[in-house]
Amino acid sequence: MDDDKKERHADRMRRKKAVVDAAIEKAQEERGIVILITGNGKGKTTSAFGTLFRALGHGHQVGVVQFIKGTQSTGEVIYLQQQNPQLRYHAMATGFTWNTQNWDADKAAADEAWAHCKEMLQDDSLNLVVLDEITYMLKYNYLDTAEVVNAIRHRPFMQTVIITGRGAKPELVELADTVSEIRDEKHAFHAGVKAQAGIDF
Ligand code: ATP
Ligand code: MG
Repeated sequence: MDDDKKERHADRMRRKKAVVDAAIEKAQEERGIVILITGNGKGKTTSAFGTLFRALGHGHQVGVVQFIKGTQSTGEVIYLQQQNPQLRYHAMATGFTWNTQNWDADKAAADEAWAHCKEMLQDDSLNLVVLDEITYMLKYNYLDTAEVVNAIRHRPFMQTVIITGRGAKPELVELADTVSEIRDEKHAFHAGVKAQAGIDF
């Protein structure tokens, strides 16, 4: 790069730094937030667990409720339970509609899982609570949207909640402070690649 270009680059970076510094200066509030990871692309649950590992690294207390449990435990849950046997973790006691096709059993399991959520959402020792796949419980009316929104809204001031799942209702989008929609551009499964341990579960 010639000197002139280098100088123009340095100048652009100086202006960029001023903008970034001003934005950092402006964001002074400290409180827990609601993060919603939705959309049809891969990466919602793994994103939630990525944040959870980040929190654990800082010695924070975390809780997890998973609403849709497959037949096998996922690698992240196996690892967490090995490393941290006291982890506050609950998984819904049944699979879900397309496996069980039994609304009453699913409803009872959803209510039970929700009771764990409510406890966590009132526990100010928890810095982070992950509600994995809870969007489906609202979408199919297993849980009451207003009740869920209300419990999340009244959680401890410094507690952060991560919600994952496709098809988030507008009430969740409105409630959340940070919303990421993961778009499905391509997925190896659709090209015939089998789901793999350590990658997909
Ligand atoms: P992950 O747990 O990998 O972060 P996710 O939480 O975004 O995925 P879910 O809808 O919960 O997605 O589905 C989990 C499983 O389905 C994973 O095995 C994932 O690879 C697979 N999956 C996710 N998105 C897609 C997609 N668009 N097409 C096919 N399979 C998908
Ligand atoms: Mg998921």
